[in-house]
Amino acid sequence: MKYIVLLMDGMADYPVKELGDKTPMQAAKKPNIDSLFKKSVCGLVNNVPDNLSPGSDVANLSAMGYDPQKFYTGRSPLEAVSMGIDLKPTDIVFRCNVVTVTEDEENYEDKIILDHSADEITTKEAAILIEDVQKHFGNSFLTFYPGVSYRHALVWANGPESYELTPPHDILEKRIGDYLPKGESGKILGEMMKKSYEFLNNHPVNIERAKRGLKKANTIWIWGEGKKPSLESFYKLHGLKGSVISAVDLIKGIGICAGLESIDVEGATGNIHTNFEGKAKACVESIVSGADYCFVHMEAPDECGHRHEIENKVKSIELIDEKVVAYIVKELKEKNIDYRMLILPDHPTPLALRTHTRDAVPFMIYDSTNEENFDFDSFTEENAAKSGVFVEKGYEIMSMFVK
Ligand SMILES: [Zn+2]
Repeated sequence: MKYIVLLMDGMADYPVKELGDKTPMQAAKKPNIDSLFKKSVCGLVNNVPDNLSPGSDVANLSAMGYDPQKFYTGRSPLEAVSMGIDLKPTDIVFRCNVVTVTEDEENYEDKIILDHSADEITTKEAAILIEDVQKHFGNSFLTFYPGVSYRHALVWANGPESYELTPPHDILEKRIGDYLPKGESGKILGEMMKKSYEFLNNHPVNIERAKRGLKKANTIWIWGEGKKPSLESFYKLHGLKGSVISAVDLIKGIGICAGLESIDVEGATGNIHTNFEGKAKACVESIVSGADYCFVHMEAPDECGHRHEIENKVKSIELIDEKVVAYIVKELKEKNIDYRMLILPDHPTPLALRTHTRDAVPFMIYDSTNEENFDFDSFTEENAAKSGVFVEKGYEIMSMFVK
């Protein structure tokens, strides 16, 4: 038996007026997922423990079968591992976004945060900006590392341990002065953020972007602190060897820390223009070449949720159905490979809120050897709830999934 997880980041949602009071899962035409759903076990799973924030880090750890209460040491260290940064146990790691803030207000504090991704800036452009940030602020303690698109890292050697930092995607359209880092150690971070605007707003890269009608990446935003993680190996926990396929460093980092192989797919971007076909192909190749388990992460529904792109959120689900699910099902059937497939989001990213919530999410477990039909015909939040199955501790879903 092979095991495939399709993690559709942020897919779950609330009913949306513009969609005729349907959720994107209800509105999307997803014949492939729905035909599997008829033969699947389903329910709701709570991926976020009460005392932790509903981040993709915590929720994806759960979905991969790790108790976040035990294993979560912060988001940025997981990303840093994926970026190949060699962390020491005394390092404090932060996520450093390049974001867009308004230009009209004189005081930095009065500016409004417009986009946590600076229009999903290209990795190439962002690398030039982060190099400049490193030139201005880097020293024997502080080092900035370029990552993918708007997602970068800051490592503070022997840095202080406690901070009050805010994720930029939680404060879109808000005045940033109310959310700048607080406290003694936060002050140093806040100062760098403020000063970065002075040389980033008129940086040649940003002038060029403005000419093309794209948002400027005109300040850095530092958040998501943590220390080097130590996950038990996935093989030791679940007895399976396998791989992880994702465009985002966070998920790759969880995979690498878990001892899974992280497979890079060309053109995997983490948004709706990603190379869905490439991911599906890589998954099948991994399984055919001997992996027992493959965790395929797709970021697009989450990004659309944050960006309040209603049509695109629906479309991203349809694209995954058409280009990922259909392909994997067809290929494995042709190759006579038995498999179980777990499909779920990590957390909801409701369009109306433009941020994550901690609500339990729908899941379905399909087994290619099962011929029995169940009651429901479409994989939706509502139908999953109606099943009455509720997995209180998200990571325990592995005991339902792996037989
Ligand atoms: Zn997520």
